[in-house]
Amino acid sequence: MTDDLHEVYAIRYGHHDRKAAENFIGGDPHDVLQPLDFFVWAIVGKSGVIVLDTGFDAAMGKKRQRELIKPVGDGLKTIGIDPAAVETVILSHMHYDHVGNYDLFPRARYHLQDLEMGYATGRCMCHGALRLPFEVEDVVSLVRKVFDGRVVFHDGEDEIVPGVTVHHIGGHSKGLQSVRVKTRRGYVVLAADASHLYAHLESGRVFPLTYNVHEVVEGYVTLKKLASSPAHVVPGHDPLVLARYPAAKPGLESWVVRLDAEPRG
Ligand SMILES: [Zn+2]
Ligand SMILES: [Zn+2]
Repeated sequence: MTDDLHEVYAIRYGHHDRKAAENFIGGDPHDVLQPLDFFVWAIVGKSGVIVLDTGFDAAMGKKRQRELIKPVGDGLKTIGIDPAAVETVILSHMHYDHVGNYDLFPRARYHLQDLEMGYATGRCMCHGALRLPFEVEDVVSLVRKVFDGRVVFHDGEDEIVPGVTVHHIGGHSKGLQSVRVKTRRGYVVLAADASHLYAHLESGRVFPLTYNVHEVVEGYVTLKKLASSPAHVVPGHDPLVLARYPAAKPGLESWVVRLDAEPRG
């Protein structure tokens, strides 16, 4: 393996059943279920382990009425990653389903866009509609990490380690960033909530929870440009990810899949 190639894993931890119409501005003509899954991602290379997003815990799942299927720490351990040893966490954005489990990574430094911290602590949070996906304890916990010297800020595009870069997308949340990873099959882009489902990316439609629609649709263009092909973009909440990629090892189907492997069919 050359030094800048990485293995990439999607680790599913939660689930939420909902109607398709709830996933798109303007609704959807199909009266069917289109559930969301919840993921964190692990990027493994010569320079160590990087975890993208930290998920929510059981208490938050209960509060938000989202099903916690397997705790985030269990998912990481099942592929040999000890959360207590992880030194690098990237946060795509600060919504409750991406920044919980505050104490799971005691040694980690957290990489975040300047704009996201400003957004989550400033005047936009005076408005209920914008505040909805944020939890004050999540935000406070991250502010504490700033004062502990454990947050690294980025403004736009930046390199985390050779082969792993963050890219400000905005749109869904003001400081949302996606992550591009160099792998054996080319550049894989972990969109996180820059595209919740494949359907958003493919049809140009927009998830209802949105700070700026223009940035969302421009984001789709950017994601495709950053990836080696449109099929190299991995949406943040799509159960199809588990169907399209092979299990990290036997028995982990529907839990942990390998994103640096060729998709199936
Ligand atoms: Zn979000
Ligand atoms: Zn999300």
